[in-house]
Amino acid sequence: MARYDYRCPNCGRRFEVEHPMGERPAVHCASCGGKAQRVFSASGIHFEGHGFYNTDQRASTETTT
Ligand SMILES: [Zn+2]
Repeated sequence: MARYDYRCPNCGRRFEVEHPMGERPAVHCASCGGKAQRVFSASGIHFEGHGFYNTDQRASTETTT
């Protein structure tokens, strides 16, 4: 399994989804039910100078909120 960032174009919510590499499942926003789109410049691919620790923290706070 790999972790990917998705973003909902409807409400702007951003979240992470785990699914096997190479698969492109339909991902729906937990807030509004809209179809989310994959974000490619995401954590795990592109760090923007913050590093692992920061991206992990952001992910866990987003999933619990
Ligand atoms: Zn949404």
